[in-house]
Amino acid sequence: MLEVADALAAVLARAKPLKTEYAALTTAALGQVLAADITADLDSPPFPKSLRDGYAVRAADCTPNAELRVVEEVPAGKFPTKPVGPGEAARVFTGAPLPDGADAVVMQEDAHPAGDRVRIADAGVKPRQWVYARGTEMKAGAVVLAAGTPINPAAFGVLAAVGKTAVPAYPFPRVGIVVTGDELIEANMKPRPGQIRNSNGPMLAAQAVRGGGLPRYLGIARDDFAITKSLIGEGLEVSDVVLVAGGVSVGDYDLVPKVLDALGVTTHFREVRVKPGKPLLFGTGPQGQLVFGLPGNPVSAFVAFELFVRPAVRILGGHAEAGPRTIRLPLAAPVAETNDRPTYRPAKLEWGEGGWQVRALPWTGSPDLVGAQPADALLALPAGDTRADRGGVMDVIVL
Ligand code: AMP
Ligand code: MG
Repeated sequence: MLEVADALAAVLARAKPLKTEYAALTTAALGQVLAADITADLDSPPFPKSLRDGYAVRAADCTPNAELRVVEEVPAGKFPTKPVGPGEAARVFTGAPLPDGADAVVMQEDAHPAGDRVRIADAGVKPRQWVYARGTEMKAGAVVLAAGTPINPAAFGVLAAVGKTAVPAYPFPRVGIVVTGDELIEANMKPRPGQIRNSNGPMLAAQAVRGGGLPRYLGIARDDFAITKSLIGEGLEVSDVVLVAGGVSVGDYDLVPKVLDALGVTTHFREVRVKPGKPLLFGTGPQGQLVFGLPGNPVSAFVAFELFVRPAVRILGGHAEAGPRTIRLPLAAPVAETNDRPTYRPAKLEWGEGGWQVRALPWTGSPDLVGAQPADALLALPAGDTRADRGGVMDVIVL
């Protein structure tokens, strides 16, 4: 049975970034990863720019109580038509270009206009004060965003500033989702005796979105070889990553491993030494699709997705770092438990006096999605006895 780190390494060894595309810069591209360096097409600012409402002056003219002649008014969006000569100033507003000759801006709070003149009260005017020099933010031709940068909200702003409306980017990996089980019905139905509603489908679709994937829910496969094969087969056609939840264990109705064989999927491992989620299958399809057979119990499926699927989706989507990221945080409450395998406990981050802390959520086991639902972290516990007091520092995966 593989350890978590070895299983993750086996997955990542087969995860390759997808072929890049041109992504239109609508908000739908939020979170895609740039596939090329982006360069500035111009200097920014394109002219020396005033950072304040006030007066553009020659710093050397500003002796105590100097009176300057105001030659022009320049609001943002206008371009100066006159230079500022010795003894002169121009009225400027934030964002306005600085006229030739001027080398500083005096805030209007320090200036006293009278007719066509202005008296500068502050004698300590320094050259370049309140002036944002041309090209300070970026120079034409310079790389402003490197390939590999995730397109975050500020990146949208930078891309707009350099005139981009579409960019080379990695597509969001397509994540096909099949759930299996004769007992399953969809949320809009009332269970008859023996039936339960399908939680994994909607949950995994949402996890796929959060992990940077494009989910496609394919439906419930009955515990029937032909039906399961046709649904997973469809998943392989339309997805980069196929998730099959349930039916991967060793029970009589656990058909998924045999179906995957029949579909030409090569299985690389079937179990991981982890709790929850020991029955976890990973394989690759005929076109290199990544195939995960996740445990049917919802909390197990949830944790397995975060530990193994999400890192793979990140790599396919062009992210440099797969994750999951582990940080060390103090416990908000003591932990005392014994586990036969390394355990990832659904947990909640809390903001306390001393900063961030983590609290293991009370839950009754891997079917208990209600107990696990608040989780925004997983508390990593080693196999064996864990006895840790409040304040004890533990490994935490932040979701
Ligand atoms: P399995 O892995 O198919 O043996 O399923 C393990 C447990 O998870 C069983 O109790 C199933 O009823 C339950 N289960 C499987 N799939 C789902 C699902 N999509 N939603 C909620 N529970 C499920
Ligand atoms: Mg089942």
